[in-house]
Formats: sequence, structure tokens, C-alpha cells
Amino acid sequence: MRGTVSFKTCGSVLVTGANRGLELQIVQNLASGGFSPGKIIATTRNLSGSQVETYLMSELHLLVVILYVVRQDSIETCVEEVERLLDEDQGLNLLINIAGVNLEADFQVVTAEMTMENFRTNAVAPLMITKVICGRVGSGGKGAMGIQRAAVVNVSSLLGSVELNWGDRANVFKWYPYRTSKVSVLRLTSRCMAVDLEPDGILCVAVHPGWVHTDMGGSRGERRGAPLSPEESVSSVLSVIGALTAKDHGTFLNYTGEQLPW
Ligand code: NDP
Repeated sequence: MRGTVSFKTCGSVLVTGANRGLELQIVQNLASGGFSPGKIIATTRNLSGSQVETYLMSELHLLVVILYVVRQDSIETCVEEVERLLDEDQGLNLLINIAGVNLEADFQVVTAEMTMENFRTNAVAPLMITKVICGRVGSGGKGAMGIQRAAVVNVSSLLGSVELNWGDRANVFKWYPYRTSKVSVLRLTSRCMAVDLEPDGILCVAVHPGWVHTDMGGSRGERRGAPLSPEESVSSVLSVIGALTAKDHGTFLNYTGEQLPW
């Protein structure tokens, strides 16, 4: 486990898919003061009636922008809004690509459409969002690699690791659309973005948040269910993100901070 870290040197954070789940928990933890970056931009595809809108009413310093992550026009509009929200000449310091879906389909029921939908949300969207933000907004700071300068965190999953899903583990959670999409997140983070964004000092890392009790992660249970609460997962994930340095660039990290194999 890495140490407790402050986000005070981090000027701005954008979190995708913040309507509910781990995404909303990240925003809540950032806004609650324990981590406290300068500006928190929470994105959601649907503002009206959303959980994040309700939360916004009690957290007036939170900035909320509409982003439907699979739509290019929505990405472009969102980034224009982000440019307006940041101070002049201030880039974005931290982008957390976490919005995701899980289409649970095994070999018998999987279809091309399911696979494409999962791939589009979990893998193509982080790529296109990062591309537009880095191209238009730029990185936030100077100095050593880390969140005080600029970082892209792409949330993947243990189920995306080829090495960790062999033997006994190859026979559980055989969700073709989800698992293939999360493999792609690892590849595009560690061997694509990490190479192309390094000259600009932008740190790129993939993170597994643990198995967590959310709509996607299912119910909590010591024996068969998700062992972690959203709060447990997110406080740990944010400690890992806050402590990122150049040696983490291009790696896949567990929520506890250890490096995971691809
Ligand atoms: P949830 O299903 O609980 O929440 C998903 C969030 O993503 C919702 O806020 C949803 O918004 C948003 N979202 C989905 N599609 C889109 C879209 N097209 N545009 C905008 N927002 C969208 O998932 P979790 O919070 O559990 O998962 C968060 C991330 O962590 C995912 O990437 C997941 O793969 C990963 N992960 C989760 C694990 C777990 O155990 N929970 C384990 C390993 C990885 P809306 O409310 O509008 O649908």
C-alpha cells in the first residue's frame, strides 16, 4: 500500500461517467477534502435526475459537464466546455477514464454487436477522450512526471490480464465482450499512449480498482461477492494515483499499488 497523498499540487481532475458507481465515489472523495485537487470536473451522460446532480447541490465547487463517452460530438463539446472551465493557459492535470460497461456474455451467447459495444465504451472511448483532451487542452504543469504535471489513468480490470486469467481463473467470469475490451485498455495505455504522450511528460497508467460492490461489481460478500466497498476501493486507488511517479509510467497497477502482469 502506498502512503497517504494530497492532491493539493494537482490543479484539475476530470472523471468520466460520474453518475454512479466508482466514478461517483471518486468525485465524492475528491470533493470531500481528503484529497482536494484545485478543480474537479465530473462528467455524466445524463444530468437531469442523475445521482451526480443531486450530489452537486451540496458540493457547489464541483463542475459537471455532459459527456456521452462513445459519441465523438459529445467528446468535442465536452472538451470545449473543459477549456472554458480551466483558467487561461492552464491544462488538465489528471484525466481518469473510468466510465465502463460490462456485457456479460459467454461463448454460447456472445454476439458481434455486444463485443463492439463493450469495446467502444471501454477501450475506444478512453482513447478518443484522451486524444482530444491532450490535443486541445494540453498538460497541466511542469516538473517531474505525476499528477502535479499531467497524468492519464485508464481503469482496466484484472479480467483484462492474460497472465492472471489462466489455469483455474480461466474458467470464471467468461465474459467475452468485457474481457477483450479490458485487454485493449491495457495495451492502449501501456504500449501506445505511454509512448506517444511521454515526450509531453504525460504519465500514463492502467489501474485495477479491485472487485467492488457496485451495480457492475454485484453485491458484497465475504465468500462469493465483491469484497470491497466503493469507499475502500476509491480511497486506495486515489492514494495510488496521488503517488504516481515516472517509474509507474506504462504500467498496470493494482488498487493496492503493486504492479500487475498483463
Ligand atoms: P457501474 O456500472 O456501477 O457504473 C458505470 C458508470 O459508467 C455509470 O455512472 C454510467 O453512467 C457510466 N457510463 C457507462 N457508459 C457510459 C457512456 N457511454 N457515457 C457516459 N457514461 C457512461 O460500474 P463500476 O463503477 O463498478 O465500474 C467502474 C469502472 O471500474 C469500469 O470501467 C469497470 O470496468 C471497472 N471495474 C469495476 C470493477 C468492479 O468490481 N466494480 C472491477 C474491475 C474493474 P449511467 O449511470 O449513465 O449509466
